[in-house]
Amino acid sequence: MQYKRILLKLSGEALMGNQQYGIDPIRLKEYAQEIKQITDKGVEVAIVIGGGNIFRGLAGASSGMDRVQGDNMGMLATIINGLALQSALENEEVPTRLQTAININEVAEPFIRRKAIRHLEKGRVVIFGGGTGNPYFTTDSAAVLRAIEINADVILKGTRVDGIYTSDPEKDKMATKFDFISFEDVLQKGLKVMDTTAFTLSQENELPIIVFDMNTKGNLLKVVCGERIGTKVNL
Ligand code: UDP
Repeated sequence: MQYKRILLKLSGEALMGNQQYGIDPIRLKEYAQEIKQITDKGVEVAIVIGGGNIFRGLAGASSGMDRVQGDNMGMLATIINGLALQSALENEEVPTRLQTAININEVAEPFIRRKAIRHLEKGRVVIFGGGTGNPYFTTDSAAVLRAIEINADVILKGTRVDGIYTSDPEKDKMATKFDFISFEDVLQKGLKVMDTTAFTLSQENELPIIVFDMNTKGNLLKVVCGERIGTKVNL
């Protein structure tokens, strides 16, 4: 295994599968099975999950809602996704803990860094819900923050695209993929990997990011084994 401890970032939208909204149980099960493959190999796995399949604060704000209220709704949406993922992982007999940045004590543990690390050491998958716990941030920022806090070796950003391209491959047929790219080049070329806050936090802390296609079976295991899948952003 190339990586001992990873932080996997999954967007909320990824959980929609072929649906327009919400959580697709088939997709959820597939993801749980992919994650089990790497925990079976002894990799320590932390997960940050987004909420875009349910609610985004910006979308609320654009229709007149107070931004902070909307962001709070978005953060709660990530906890809903976290509970769903926890359940799916437990169905595959993967031990898990859900820790949230907003306290909901009857439902999940509060985020406590040392406890999270202890869970990882014991082989439990730790799902971090509620983003950073602050409005005006994203779950990408939460992913980088938590990855640094738990000393993860890498952030794996699972998407439906198989890496970083010169332009959006879903719109531009001439787009070409990078196998490796530096943080500097991503910024200089104006490529979209994460929002700027998240991206620069990763850069400043020298935490590599791998963007890969999470929807192809076996890819997560390949990435963790060090195969050249997706695009790696490094110093
Ligand atoms: N959010 C927030 N603070 C955070 C993380 C998330 O306020 O630290 C809110 C924000 O409204 C965001 C929503 O939760 O739009 C869902 O998260 P995100 O958009 O990052 O989800 P993804 O795009 O990964 O599905």
